[in-house]
Amino acid sequence: MKASPHRHTTAEVDLVAIKNNIKKFKKYLGPKPQIWGVVKANAYGHGAVAVSQAIEKEVEGFCVSNLDEALELRENLVTKPVLILSGIVPETVNLALQHDITLTVPSLAWIKLVVAQDIDLTKLKVHVAVDSGMGRIGVREVEEANAIIDTLDRFGITFEGIFTHFATADEADEEKFKLQQERFSAFLNSLRRKPRYVHSTNTASALWHTHQVQDIERLGISMYGLNPSGKTLPLPFELEPALSLKTELTHVKQVQSGETLGYGATYETSESTWIGTVSLGYADGWTRAMQGFHVLVDGKYCEIVGRVSMDQMMIKLDQAYPLGTVVTLIGRDGVAEISATDVADWRGTINYEVLCLISDRVVRIYK
Ligand code: PLP
Repeated sequence: MKASPHRHTTAEVDLVAIKNNIKKFKKYLGPKPQIWGVVKANAYGHGAVAVSQAIEKEVEGFCVSNLDEALELRENLVTKPVLILSGIVPETVNLALQHDITLTVPSLAWIKLVVAQDIDLTKLKVHVAVDSGMGRIGVREVEEANAIIDTLDRFGITFEGIFTHFATADEADEEKFKLQQERFSAFLNSLRRKPRYVHSTNTASALWHTHQVQDIERLGISMYGLNPSGKTLPLPFELEPALSLKTELTHVKQVQSGETLGYGATYETSESTWIGTVSLGYADGWTRAMQGFHVLVDGKYCEIVGRVSMDQMMIKLDQAYPLGTVVTLIGRDGVAEISATDVADWRGTINYEVLCLISDRVVRIYK
């Protein structure tokens, strides 16, 4: 979708807050592990290029989810290591190689397809994924990992890393987490040889768990200033949310009691009411589930009334406001605040999804 810069609906991204969050994390973790910034999915909606360029001095590398995301960083002069966290189409490995992109080996079957091609793989660096219980990608048996290492050696590919991913690091119950940790550690003990980097942490596992071996911390949501558990587990230090979502009043009117508003006529005024309209809707990632939630106008909470439509929605105002008055959907207005986690709780989802759904139509502004 095309960005709409002539509309005043913007996601303001505070790059200094992102840098501060990384600095706080470094202080918390101590000097040993490297930090690789997870900037997949357009840096969780914050803008991968702007974020990566801003934090390149703070991190040792970057993690993305696919080849196009990796290429976007290289095209924008990001030079530090870029690791793709999932398997890519084997036929595209040569393209990744040309741009010095580090790949994940999700299985023996995948690496076999890669080496079957007639290409020089001697400059390729890979990290082997281990499925210790997430059930997504990765090898489950150490024999398979050792067979992968044999193949890498045969074709001169650098076995640079091995990693796993935890399914429940953000939950209070540690049983499944511990099981995964034990499996990964047993796996490492039976591995033919260990690579330079062993890693397993996302934000939650770095925040709330201790790890025996950890060469890289893969930090995503905490860089953007949010708690991965939502409101379940307390943060050991404060993070600064980096993104605010704002729009403005484009239409203001007073409607009489008994009028209905929006598609399906799902809201009816019970008294004479000031109604504001804003230029933002579900095509911007502000889903229909937001009906009944609130936004901030002049530091006050105002209810979202009627169905959220594709491009616009209505809010109930406490008085008349001029056109152009700022409406805050995520962020602060005076002492009042709406966090991405508040929005997620209302929608019955997680703050990650709220951020990622903000569509490309919403212009990102950096400060
Ligand atoms: N590592 C992997 C494999 C991931 O898939 C993700 C995110 O989904 C991360 C690290 C970063 O996680 P978080 O944003 O919770 O720090």
